[in-house]
Amino acid sequence: MADKIAIVTGAARGIGLATTRLLLRDGFRVAMLDIDAEELHARAEGLSGVRAYPCDVSDPGSVTATFAAVAADMGGIDALVNNAGIADFGPIEETDFTRWRRVMDTNLDGVFLCSQAATPALIARRGVIVNIASISGLRASTLRVAYGTSKAAVIHLTKQQAVELGEYGVRANCVCPGPVRTKLAMAVHSQEIIDAYHDAIPLNRYGSEEEIGEVIAFLCSARASYVTGQIVASDGGFESTGVGLP
Ligand code: NAD
Repeated sequence: MADKIAIVTGAARGIGLATTRLLLRDGFRVAMLDIDAEELHARAEGLSGVRAYPCDVSDPGSVTATFAAVAADMGGIDALVNNAGIADFGPIEETDFTRWRRVMDTNLDGVFLCSQAATPALIARRGVIVNIASISGLRASTLRVAYGTSKAAVIHLTKQQAVELGEYGVRANCVCPGPVRTKLAMAVHSQEIIDAYHDAIPLNRYGSEEEIGEVIAFLCSARASYVTGQIVASDGGFESTGVGLP
């Protein structure tokens, strides 16, 4: 067994599951965390080198207990991929405080709580954090007040982590995916949004889970040993166009 350990949150499906597979390929053993215990166990059963931990990243008690269990079962942490997230598209006037808080709890507080829980172990192993934000955190739109704001905060949190943890040899980077046909995206992307993305993205298509996962895997690897505090868009060129988010 390799002795490199990664934690991936939101690992039961989508980008988190693809990332788990790529990190296994790269020699990591992976702690898969997800709030959806049923899907998590079903996916983990088919993979060797993983352990499954049902966890709600927005709940401080759940995060503390889960990270203690991972430490007891697997030892240290070399990489933390903060990928768990939810989408909620709506303009300011329609986003009541309950919706706003729900998005912040998972997308922002979850990244903070998991990073804080992992920090001593990451310092001990000169580990790496990769946070998953979104192009919605780089560009404002008429539809994404909560989601976009949560992702912009994750981008800034990444810079804080890079600056604060650099002296311990811990790297922190952020990946901003463009659209990928996951359950999260397809719940909020209307046909109009899909068509607009196809037109606006220079590569004229959605990305795949694996295309995002490969960027995450690179940032987790020693090949990125001098890369920290960076915000990397994996978006088919969308961020370069100056076109507004559909
Ligand atoms: P997905 O819905 O396929 O996967 C998200 C996973 O996170 C699910 O397994 C879900 O159960 C889990 N999760 C949700 N809330 C959780 C919680 N509180 N605690 C633990 N796990 C929780 O979605 P995805 O598209 O693979 O999203 C992964 C990340 O990529 C998210 O942070 C998302 O915002 C980001 N992202 C996705 C896209 C896209 O187009 N799919 C674009 C930009 C950014």
